[in-house]
Amino acid sequence: MLLDRDLGNLHHAANTLFEGMAARSGIKIEDCYLQKRLEGMRILGPGGAAVTVPAKGYFIDRQRFDDHYLRLAEGSGVVLLCGVARAAKLDGNRRIVALGEDQIEARVVVDASGVESTLARQAGLKPMRHPEDIAWALEAAVEHPGLGEELLFQYWIGSMAPGWKATFSPAGKDKATLGVFVRGHGQNVGSFFRGFLKRFKAYKAAQYRDIEDMKILSVKRGGDPIAALPGEMAADSLMVTGGAAGQSGLAYGMRAGAICGTMAGKAVAAGDVSRKALSRYEQLWNAEFYWEYRMGRASLQTLREMKDDEIESLVRGLNGKTIISNGSFLKKAMYSGAKVALARPRTVFDLVWSLAKG
Ligand SMILES: Cc1cc2nc3c(=O)[nH]c(=O)nc-3n(C[C@H](O)[C@H](O)[C@H](O)COP(=O)(O)OP(=O)(O)OC[C@H]3O[C@@H](n4cnc5c(N)ncnc54)[C@H](O)[C@@H]3O)c2cc1C
Repeated sequence: MLLDRDLGNLHHAANTLFEGMAARSGIKIEDCYLQKRLEGMRILGPGGAAVTVPAKGYFIDRQRFDDHYLRLAEGSGVVLLCGVARAAKLDGNRRIVALGEDQIEARVVVDASGVESTLARQAGLKPMRHPEDIAWALEAAVEHPGLGEELLFQYWIGSMAPGWKATFSPAGKDKATLGVFVRGHGQNVGSFFRGFLKRFKAYKAAQYRDIEDMKILSVKRGGDPIAALPGEMAADSLMVTGGAAGQSGLAYGMRAGAICGTMAGKAVAAGDVSRKALSRYEQLWNAEFYWEYRMGRASLQTLREMKDDEIESLVRGLNGKTIISNGSFLKKAMYSGAKVALARPRTVFDLVWSLAKG
């Protein structure tokens, strides 16, 4: 059974992903939700230095993407239910999910309720190691003639979006999104968005006539656990996955959900849903992803300490270098000896990995 409080009116924010991460997560991009193909990302420093990183990427129609996966789930026999889970209390070897007046009994409950999840924490888990490091975001859907036809995502780093990034994602034709993702300045990041908007319009003024008239169509807010790092992911009859467990990024979140769901199914089939049995998910996730996330966090911590002129020099220094070859992102092999690398985070590579992760 899949329970969601917004079923029928889902409004998820994430709408871009890169091929390297989609492929690694087992996601085949389908035409039914693909909105626009992109050729890579342009990283911009606070003073205008820029570097282009070739990598296939996609802007997706998130509503259609969700519909596609909901249909697949239904087709596999999953019952979809609209409702708010208020608690998931342990009762012997199962949990009782409270939904207002009703309740559901489940051998295993998977908390996939996003960064603001409370279920796992109510059960005594600490699913993120650094919840204080969630990047709070404001992303606007915008419209201006031809703006969506660009072929590169653009990511600005520096004090216009402290601790993480400001983004421009072309969505095809006249549509695009603009966003800021900020760490360490609370959840209200509107002032950073306004500052970025001004900078963006100035940057694009030569390219687009009347960019000042660009329309803001809608706005989404939320948290991205890009540097929060997963913590405890399993308790008796309970697992946590996706943003709720600090597993940031659409593609990697889906892969984490697949590992989680597979292990939940195996545990139920084996008749053992104890924390120990469900922790196999934690072990598998750690083996597949831990060092990537750890290095990504290290690079973002380094970035956070850097002043704008240092970031500008970093980006300028990258210009002309090939950061990524044959479109594959930071293969696992790069993380051999990761403990040593942690002392000297490979800021550039890990930063690009974080940018690509979403
Ligand atoms: C503005 C913004 C833009 C982003 N853009 C990108 C991007 O382009 N690419 C990318 O890879 N990542 C992006 N991210 C990060 C990305 O959203 C997350 O890392 C990831 O997609 C989270 O997915 P999730 O399914 O775990 O959580 P969510 O997408 O938050 O979904 C949680 C679901 O749980 C439901 N829910 C919550 N509480 C309850 C409850 N009590 N009972 C029942 N249902 C409940 C909600 O309705 C929701 O459907 C973005 C984040 C933000 C904030």
